[in-house]
Amino acid sequence: MLIRFILNHSHPWLYWCHPLASRVLYWFQSTLTSSEKQVNSFDLDLSLMGKTGRNLIGKKYNEKQSKNQSDKVHKMTKFDFVVIGGGMVGAAVALGFAKQGKQVAVVENFAPKAFEQDQPLDIRVSAISQNSVNLLESLGAWSGISSKRVCRYKRLETWEHPECRTRFHADSLDMEQLGYIVENRVIQLGLWEQFEHHDNLTLFCSDKLERIEFGDVNQVTLDSGEVLETGWIIGADGANSMVRQMAGIGITAWDYRQDCMLINVETELPQQDITWQQFMPSGPRSFLPLASLEKDGQEVGQGSLVWYDSARRIRELKQLSNTALEREIAQHFPSELGPIKVLQAGSFPLTRRHAQNYFKRGCVLVGDSAHTINPLAGQGVNLGFKDVKALLEVCASDEPATEKQMRKYEIKRRGDNLLMQTGMDFFYKTFSNDLGPAKFVRNAALKLAEQSGPIKDQVLKYALGL
Ligand SMILES: Cc1cc2nc3c(=O)[nH]c(=O)nc-3n(C[C@H](O)[C@H](O)[C@H](O)COP(=O)(O)OP(=O)(O)OC[C@H]3O[C@@H](n4cnc5c(N)ncnc54)[C@H](O)[C@@H]3O)c2cc1C
Repeated sequence: MLIRFILNHSHPWLYWCHPLASRVLYWFQSTLTSSEKQVNSFDLDLSLMGKTGRNLIGKKYNEKQSKNQSDKVHKMTKFDFVVIGGGMVGAAVALGFAKQGKQVAVVENFAPKAFEQDQPLDIRVSAISQNSVNLLESLGAWSGISSKRVCRYKRLETWEHPECRTRFHADSLDMEQLGYIVENRVIQLGLWEQFEHHDNLTLFCSDKLERIEFGDVNQVTLDSGEVLETGWIIGADGANSMVRQMAGIGITAWDYRQDCMLINVETELPQQDITWQQFMPSGPRSFLPLASLEKDGQEVGQGSLVWYDSARRIRELKQLSNTALEREIAQHFPSELGPIKVLQAGSFPLTRRHAQNYFKRGCVLVGDSAHTINPLAGQGVNLGFKDVKALLEVCASDEPATEKQMRKYEIKRRGDNLLMQTGMDFFYKTFSNDLGPAKFVRNAALKLAEQSGPIKDQVLKYALGL
């Protein structure tokens, strides 16, 4: 237990300091996890994407896709890679493999609803770092995404006491923006639009994984009865990954004692280029700017509010009418927000998970199936895209992918994912109490961070994945 604690809490810094330390600790952790698996392996019945996904099934897209599907289905049942899950991460990795000339299948349960400019913004949005934008550009998807609906932000500010703020600005790194806030569905659609340029990519949608028969070549049976043969199955099927469970990969996981509520609002303040977060003992309150809305010939600012609090409090908030929720927001959000009108809201439980292996029995995990993280710094899908980049790099040759390449992928990614998870937990634990001395120290630290010049730039670069 002690060793597990040390590995989980201290070695991210070693990973940072020396790549050799990363390898030694990776080896040590994998020997340890295999013996601890029975203790740590459990799965939680959370469906972070499921409900939203179900609501998003698009008739228009489905019709088009089922035509594509009927054109392609039965033509080929052997693939280099079968990707289970066509969400943001699965779609990106599938497209990357297709660009490398590999034969790829993507299996997705729910087609994303087609985009229309006058649709209200989705609740599920992500802050996308410049590094993720670079990946989406390299996949040819970014122009399709940015031509739909994105909101760039140039500034990031965080504080607890209003006098002790840490501020980041794109100018300090000579960048046009720090990143973009984009609806998850828009990212997924931008990637899916590229599928049709690749004859070597076959989409099975709406279909889902039913079982895997493991062997020298894995056989994947889908709900439709289709059987696909493949060297490697990519588990991109999210937090409750079936691929992970079927491959017998355990997870180390715990629930944060917080849920989070996402609330889309109209802002009376004009369109903003800042995302901010105020730490409160019961959990942070955040603002993410969204693409503005055209209303009666006028531009109206929109934003996504994130309210972290105890599960009980979030349950109470969910029962409120929009007007009552507006009153609560006015009382509990900082004055930077200004007056708002609530448009829609949804809530999500928060759980940290980390797979004990990233590959096993011809299955490889990417994105949320490998790791979930406290979203307080908006890093989840950015880590997923870093997994995609690393996996594509190790599989770049024309030869069939090997376990040795997958081990390289795991070594590249495990330390970085663990570092970010642990960093977020550090913030979560440090700020979620009301003790006077702790408050003093953390506010002093935020103020010090503001004055730290080059160190602050390095932290910013790390957060942006640069
Ligand atoms: C409240 C909240 C806020 C967040 N904010 C941010 C943020 O600002 N920035 C950020 O980077 N990240 C953020 N995240 C994290 C981010 O949303 C996730 O990391 C990201 O959605 C993971 O993408 P994925 O493709 O790995 O998994 P998912 O999005 O879960 O996609 C999995 C896909 O697999 C499909 N699927 C599942 N099972 C099967 C099956 N058996 N057969 C076929 N298909 C299947 C599902 O339908 C789904 O489309 C946030 C998360 C939460 C909860």
